[in-house]
Amino acid sequence: MSLDPQRHLAQQIQKIPRSGIRDFFELVIGRDDVISLGVGEPDFSSPWHIREAAIYSLERGETSYTSNLGLLSLREAIAGYVSETFELRYDAQSEILITVGVSEAIDLAFRALLNPGDEVIYHEPCYVSYNPSIALAYGVPVAVATKPENDFSLKAADVAAAITPKTRALMLNFTTNPTGAVIDRAELEAIAKLAVEHDIVVLSDEIYSELRYEGTDHTSIATFPGMKERTIFLHGFSKAFAMTGFRVGYACAPQALTEAMMKIHQYSMLCAPITSQVAAVEALRHGAGPAEEMRQAYAHRRNLLLSRFAEAGIPCFAPGGAFYAFPDIRATGMTSQDFARQLLDEESVACVPGDAFGPSGEGFLRCCYAASTDSLREAMTRIGRFYEKHVS
Ligand code: PLP
Repeated sequence: MSLDPQRHLAQQIQKIPRSGIRDFFELVIGRDDVISLGVGEPDFSSPWHIREAAIYSLERGETSYTSNLGLLSLREAIAGYVSETFELRYDAQSEILITVGVSEAIDLAFRALLNPGDEVIYHEPCYVSYNPSIALAYGVPVAVATKPENDFSLKAADVAAAITPKTRALMLNFTTNPTGAVIDRAELEAIAKLAVEHDIVVLSDEIYSELRYEGTDHTSIATFPGMKERTIFLHGFSKAFAMTGFRVGYACAPQALTEAMMKIHQYSMLCAPITSQVAAVEALRHGAGPAEEMRQAYAHRRNLLLSRFAEAGIPCFAPGGAFYAFPDIRATGMTSQDFARQLLDEESVACVPGDAFGPSGEGFLRCCYAASTDSLREAMTRIGRFYEKHVS
């Protein structure tokens, strides 16, 4: 007798759709001719000194579990880094948890916070995991659309309008995947005031905060009055240090929240891999130079992409950070799915349809510029040709 998914799979899982990015990239697998601006990860390998630290650690035979919270040396390095970079002080002994990427930290945070039916507000278009992670923790996802006329930045008034007595948490991500949006300080401060007034916990995913261009500022919401005690600050090594495959991230939060997340982590993951934790210590101690070189390379590529979008007459706001451009393809009258699929068929360029990041991404395309300048130039020639053919 074969397994009946309706009967045997949890209803919670049946309700959750597959990631739109994954669906799209299955079409690309096995096609060598495709230029991909799709996958959201650095095209650089982790800097050599980081890989070498991992190799030496293995040579020393460091293959054990670590403390559930993570290596104390890494927590101390994080405490120093977060204090210097974000002006936030956390106690390495009790307020920092090392996780398997920010992905795990997001899951732990929602599971630690939510009772069934609690609402979580998040801004959209957004990273694909937020909505399902909330639903998997039995929460109710409440999307607040950000708008192209505001360069996809979040407005405090829109957050205020979404708050109900059931609102338990607010998920923020600046700079933002998929739009590259940033938020100005005054707006963030107004959102912080709302969080305090309505007793809302904020999850602040700051994984792209180092990747900023043209002097754009970054402030963590946790720095505003009354916020550190209600914020879970999420960060990791995947983007700025090009360490996606190491799978290491962290959550900084008040002790009670850290303890709650640690309890789940302890029984589900036990600890992040020791090799990755050692590599992460090296990234924080000596990684600033290579990280800055990568950031400069992204800045150059961003400018290249923006000038080529302008030449092709494709509207695209200048992203303040991350490594994504989010051009507006509405003038073609095509859905973002149709645009992306036909672009792949006709020109062999893979970009992610904007609606993969939520309904408010419809009419846009995510182009990741973590790719070589040669690939970007060629991709832009093809995208420009395709757009001209289809624009009405
Ligand atoms: N948060 C955002 C906004 C992301 O874009 C990503 C990955 O693309 C993640 C979290 C996951 O990061 P990690 O590799 O640390 O799990």
